[in-house]
Amino acid sequence: MATTAADFPELPYADGDFFAFEQLLSGKEQDRLAEVRDFLAREVKPIAVDCWNRGEFPMDLVPKLAGLDLVSPVRRQGYSNLFAGMLHAEATRADASIATFLGVHDGLFTGSIELLASQEQKDEWLPDIYALKKIGAFGLTEPLGGSDVAGGTRTTARRDGSNWILNGAKRWIGNATFSDWVVVYARDVADNQVKGFMVDTTLAGYSAAKIENKISLRTVQNADIVLQDVVVPDHFKLANANSFRDVNKVLKVTRLSVAWQAVGLQLAAFDVARRYAVDRQQFGRPLASFQLIQDQAGPDPG
Ligand SMILES: Cc1cc2nc3c(=O)[nH]c(=O)nc-3n(C[C@H](O)[C@H](O)[C@H](O)COP(=O)(O)OP(=O)(O)OC[C@H]3O[C@@H](n4cnc5c(N)ncnc54)[C@H](O)[C@@H]3O)c2cc1C
Repeated sequence: MATTAADFPELPYADGDFFAFEQLLSGKEQDRLAEVRDFLAREVKPIAVDCWNRGEFPMDLVPKLAGLDLVSPVRRQGYSNLFAGMLHAEATRADASIATFLGVHDGLFTGSIELLASQEQKDEWLPDIYALKKIGAFGLTEPLGGSDVAGGTRTTARRDGSNWILNGAKRWIGNATFSDWVVVYARDVADNQVKGFMVDTTLAGYSAAKIENKISLRTVQNADIVLQDVVVPDHFKLANANSFRDVNKVLKVTRLSVAWQAVGLQLAAFDVARRYAVDRQQFGRPLASFQLIQDQAGPDPG
């Protein structure tokens, strides 16, 4: 006789949040997380594998994400850091690539502006960025400067009257094949300090080519960027991005989200393993009803 998981009420608990961290959130935050989780289940999970296989980003998802109003949960919307972390984990649990799209646009790009732009620049740029009407990327890594980019930034910025002239190359830049703007970090030839520039991707001399044949995060569109005598008006230099110490202010708050991505991936791994153990029938019973499988289910939270 066929059985279902409901026939085995002793089967392990359904959620990977073993220590009930979600209960540390306020009621409003728990409701918001549930709303986002529901959206991800409806709009992201069903398309995630296909996008991954094709190595393409689902651009039609962007207006839907905009409707969810996810950008800048802490600084703009007043949510807790724990909520922001769990939000990122939840997005990763659905699809690590879509979470990376958000992490780049929100954390690295929007974070650069929130932390390093003048008030006038913020007032001008942030509304469209929060609304995902303008999508951003974060250009720090270079072909010859990775882990050592702090001392190894080779892209240059030269002041020329009321403009800056940018020259160089950036590698691995997420979202950069379709982004409207890229914050580019470049070394000022006058004082040797790394400075930040808001670069409009339609400017002459700017080009971005998709990095093909990735084996991981395939839905994320990473680009090789070339900057050849790109003229950036001084108004588009981030007012408070004047050394690598300033870049570090952005990295400091955004690298936390990478750890939350690891949490999200572990939650997803548990989801998949649990679903398989419950759905898969052998000897007329779900795998999860056998003692050795239950032994792998982790600590009893009770
Ligand atoms: C999917 C993806 C998305 C990315 N998105 C962006 C983005 O949006 N914007 C951006 O600016 N960058 C981005 N990056 C770049 C990323 O930040 C760099 O890959 C990273 O900084 C490492 O640089 P690298 O790849 O040049 O590796 P390398 O610096 O060449 O390092 C190679 C290996 O050497 C090890 N290593 C390096 N230095 C040391 C040391 N001192 N001691 C011991 N081991 C060491 C490293 O751990 C690594 O295993 C992205 C990368 C990937 C893969």
